[in-house]
Amino acid sequence: MFLDLTPQQIAFRDEVARFARDVVAPRAATIDSTGEFPSDVIRAAASLGLLGMTVSTTWGGAGRDYLSYALAIESIGRASATVATSLAVTNSLVAELVEHAGTDAQRDRWLRQLTRGDTVGAFALSEAGAGTDAANQQTTATRIDGGAAYRLAGRKVWVANAAAAGVMIVFAATQPGRRGQGVSAFLVPGDAPGIVRKALDDSLGVRGLGCMDLDLDVTVGADQLLGEVDRGFALAMWALQGGRVAIAAQALGIGQAALDEAIAHARTREQFGRPIAQFEAIQWMIADAATELDAARMLMWKAASVKARGETGAVESSMAKLAASEAAHHAADKAMQVLASAGYRRGSVVERLFRDVRATEIYQGTSEAQRMIIAKHLSR
Ligand SMILES: Cc1cc2nc3c(=O)[nH]c(=O)nc-3n(C[C@H](O)[C@H](O)[C@H](O)COP(=O)(O)OP(=O)(O)OC[C@H]3O[C@@H](n4cnc5c(N)ncnc54)[C@H](O)[C@@H]3O)c2cc1C
Repeated sequence: MFLDLTPQQIAFRDEVARFARDVVAPRAATIDSTGEFPSDVIRAAASLGLLGMTVSTTWGGAGRDYLSYALAIESIGRASATVATSLAVTNSLVAELVEHAGTDAQRDRWLRQLTRGDTVGAFALSEAGAGTDAANQQTTATRIDGGAAYRLAGRKVWVANAAAAGVMIVFAATQPGRRGQGVSAFLVPGDAPGIVRKALDDSLGVRGLGCMDLDLDVTVGADQLLGEVDRGFALAMWALQGGRVAIAAQALGIGQAALDEAIAHARTREQFGRPIAQFEAIQWMIADAATELDAARMLMWKAASVKARGETGAVESSMAKLAASEAAHHAADKAMQVLASAGYRRGSVVERLFRDVRATEIYQGTSEAQRMIIAKHLSR
């Protein structure tokens, strides 16, 4: 049944596709070349309800179902991988988590700002020694002032949106050494004294994402604890399950854009007196890429539908992200082959997609991490 989109989902997807084509796509090359965070594009996205897409209207969100959200991220990803990642972080990793685990006061304070596009959110989990092993948190949260406040101290790495974020969800060990059993989550204003933003991470792709390392020595009130003390790691995993659906969608957008470029080039480029689209070798590359993307798209729709039913869908979201990111990588690789020197030229669209797509196999859990989650579930 999940193969059929409702008329509302189709209308929303088409509206976002127009925005992606008219507003986002014309900016993609500049975002990539300058590496500047696209605040104006994010604000424009907010006016279309693309921040807090699944958040309840009570808190200013658009109250959409998860598949609509994923379709929107795919459309945006087709135009700019960077904008899609930024939206996925604010939506899945921050806004959804604040709605899921926050108090009404926290929801009121942060969700309205995020959904209006007044600011973006960041999710600070990774550390130098806590990548795939995210439970190995060395940032500490120590109770001070008789329990009225916490002092957060440590260093976070690769924090997307950090350059512009008005709120960050920071994970820290409240019981050092107890790994996932002793980590808590905190809502930290982006301008809190004691946050030192290090230089922008100079990345291969998704440039302009505002990724930064953060040195933290911050005091937060106990009312800034998100959810229960020592239960923050489970919250991080909850958020990432939704985030992986979004990254699967983003990857499909990038892969589809690469396939579009390959088809357009194959139709017009002539060799041996014929368009190269008439050569079987080229046709097979296009057919394989299209088939892999569509198969992964079905997994993404399934994962989004499971999430829409209110289930966590850990295994479905990992399968969707694994399949979509690898299919998109293959599609970008095949597109490069179809375009050959025209794709390999610095500044070509395929060259950007080829760099951007690689991140989808790394962030929000590497492909190996997704395989670990799937295998663990299957061998229970
Ligand atoms: C562009 C970008 C944006 C990011 N944004 C954020 C963000 O907003 N917030 C945030 O917290 N983090 C963010 N990250 C960090 C990202 O989540 C980590 O890079 C990712 O989890 C992998 O960690 P690592 O890079 O330390 O690799 P490592 O964990 O060091 O892994 C290295 C290699 O070993 C493999 N490996 C590790 N453990 C195992 C195992 N047990 N079995 C098999 N293979 C294994 C990995 O799959 C990988 O191939 C971002 C990263 C990038 C590149």
